[in-house]
Amino acid sequence: MVAIDLDSVRKAFDDAVALEDVSLSVEEGEFFTLVGPSGCGKTTTLRTIAGLSSPTDGTVRFDGEDVSDTPVEDRNVGVVFQSYALFPHMTVAENVRYGLRFTDPPRGLTADERVEELLELVDLPEMGDRDPDELSGGQQQRVALARALAPEPDVLLLDEPMSALDARLREQLRREIKRIQRELGVTTVYVTHDQEEALAVSDRLAVMHDGGVEQVGTPVEVYEQPATEFVASFVGENNVFSGVVVGRDGDELAIEIDEKAPADHQFHVVDPADHAVGDHVTFCVRPTHLDPDASHNRFRMALGAAEYLGGTTRLYGEWAGREMVLRLPEPPADDTLTVGFDPAAATIL
Ligand code: ATP
Repeated sequence: MVAIDLDSVRKAFDDAVALEDVSLSVEEGEFFTLVGPSGCGKTTTLRTIAGLSSPTDGTVRFDGEDVSDTPVEDRNVGVVFQSYALFPHMTVAENVRYGLRFTDPPRGLTADERVEELLELVDLPEMGDRDPDELSGGQQQRVALARALAPEPDVLLLDEPMSALDARLREQLRREIKRIQRELGVTTVYVTHDQEEALAVSDRLAVMHDGGVEQVGTPVEVYEQPATEFVASFVGENNVFSGVVVGRDGDELAIEIDEKAPADHQFHVVDPADHAVGDHVTFCVRPTHLDPDASHNRFRMALGAAEYLGGTTRLYGEWAGREMVLRLPEPPADDTLTVGFDPAAATIL
């Protein structure tokens, strides 16, 4: 188990800057996720940790030791990529054994014993003699995981390992990966563009955007207290408002929304910081906190599309030129709806 530190990492290609000033610390044994939209720099960050890509500037440290120029084969990392990348002409067992090409099997085991142990771990015992094309996609990815784990790596790096699988299989495999990670205690960095998956599996996650890190935190911290407008909208859905502080009463701000809102319309929002009258603030309210029965901060929106999600309905609406989203058990009959929210349910960004 090692801790990983990235310190002000920058990566420039000929025609693009993939990473700008990325600093991150992954603790020993942690399941850490890099999440963000396509092109934000997740894979480049992972490749930099692996030693498959060297930073243009900045440092990568494993347990405090600078490994920025250490090649991948000397870093003791296991990597699993998007595509299964198994060798089709080798059996499952031979594919797993390939993971031992740079090192002897650990703990004095023979290679055969180690392969058997790994196939047990990923729940594919008795499958060693099969060819990869005789396995399902999810099983193939578990073989790739076994291969990456073969040398008992200090760090496990997973780059969208489930993107080729269907939704149900993804959920199953992610629980499996999490179980294996817990069992081994290996420091793990996981890349996904799927924010729901990131919340579900991670001890902590870093939300990336445009080559930089927007926020690092536990799933609850990132969801409940998004640090930026990007995080607020990317991780789960959100309703984002901005305006000017026109009054303060105790810990509550009165905020006047811009000119598209009805004249003199004010929202009252709890402010844990110390914004003053005249400040511009942006805040967000989760869809589940927009409530037709709330007594505070009421406003009437025009309703648009409704999506039945099983047990709940997602409703889109519009208020003051902004798209709104909320959740209700069932769609209202009208094409307008008045909702409100508790001042403490809003988060100032
Ligand atoms: P995705 O989810 O689509 O895989 P990502 O978040 O992993 O995206 P990266 O693959 O790290 O993003 O790419 C970040 C940026 O760097 C992108 O603009 C990409 O086009 C650019 N980039 C990545 N690799 C190279 C390369 N070898 N040469 C030039 N540009 C690159």
